[in-house]
Amino acid sequence: MSGSIFRRKSRRIRLGEVEVGGGAPILVQSMTKTDTRDVEATLGQLKRLELAGCEVVRVAVPDEDALEGFAACLRESKVPVVADIHFSHSLAVRCIELGAHCVRINPGNIGGKQRLLEVVRAASDAGCAIRIGVNSGSLEKRLWAKYGGPKAEALAESALYWSAFLEDAGFFNFKVSIKSSDVVENYRSHLIFAQKSEAPLHVGITEAGFGEYGVVKSSVGIGSLLLNGIGDTIRVSLTGDPVREVEVGFAILKCLGLREAGPEIISCPTCGRRKIDVEALAQRVYEATKSLKRGIKIAVMGCEVNGPGEAREAHCGIAGGRTHSLIFKRGVVIKKVPNHEAVEALLEVIKDLEVDDAHQKASFPDKV
Ligand code: SF4
Repeated sequence: MSGSIFRRKSRRIRLGEVEVGGGAPILVQSMTKTDTRDVEATLGQLKRLELAGCEVVRVAVPDEDALEGFAACLRESKVPVVADIHFSHSLAVRCIELGAHCVRINPGNIGGKQRLLEVVRAASDAGCAIRIGVNSGSLEKRLWAKYGGPKAEALAESALYWSAFLEDAGFFNFKVSIKSSDVVENYRSHLIFAQKSEAPLHVGITEAGFGEYGVVKSSVGIGSLLLNGIGDTIRVSLTGDPVREVEVGFAILKCLGLREAGPEIISCPTCGRRKIDVEALAQRVYEATKSLKRGIKIAVMGCEVNGPGEAREAHCGIAGGRTHSLIFKRGVVIKKVPNHEAVEALLEVIKDLEVDDAHQKASFPDKV
């Protein structure tokens, strides 16, 4: 599903069995935050990320001692694993030899072009992808001087330079990650890059922070790019449990209609007309429907007078009253039930919607 967003044309690459770019679904990525030398803890976090739906996992490989943990991740993971390498090209090559699906390197800090080419050759031989990282920390001095700092133009020029370098070497199985913690510079640098390259882009806001502000900052930064059709994989970088990064990542894609990730609850903000505890009701509806896979919009509204009309675009919903609630389907009221039966009645309507869909599919096979 792609909603009405026109996605930028990007080249399709492979991370193991998984396709990235070229119209493939936008994938949600995260990163283990344990010490990779602690194999048990790292595998434990990897499994939690998988259970949360994480589709690509990056694992830091800071030194030789971390190779054992990285190899264990490769053995155990059901999703592609990206080796996160800084400074050491030999470590990147070792990870590729171990079977890494992708290695993340910043060309600006890998020790020169010859060493970069060694990594590229090893990746090419092994069918491993590369993620080129560009950020303020690895930005070349000449670009820093030319633009007066890690400005959007500098980051984009660096990313374009290294993309061309890999392509000139005959290597195309790479994606690019331009990261800034400044939302506006991040946005501008992606726009510049995307106009000049078809390399797939991994997008996110680096060091977004923690808590609610980190979620908002990432959502604005990633969401604005996705709305422009830019982004083939995403990562929400939050201080804290990486499972939260995955949850927020899917929520961003769901808001934009870019991935179906189960039901979406649309609940009204409430006002002076409210007849029911909307927050508690929305929570009950969420709990009752969260295991559904289908991407339906469910409205939870605080009054019967305005609720069904305001939520006309939802597939179905509840409009609460003092003692009874209205159950509606596509804006049309179909039932009035006592409040304590409202969630149950809504679930019946959701089942009906599935029957409707199956019927429509059988009647108009080309239209669904
Ligand atoms: Fe107010 Fe009713 Fe609208 Fe909710 S649905 S915001 S309670 S008018």
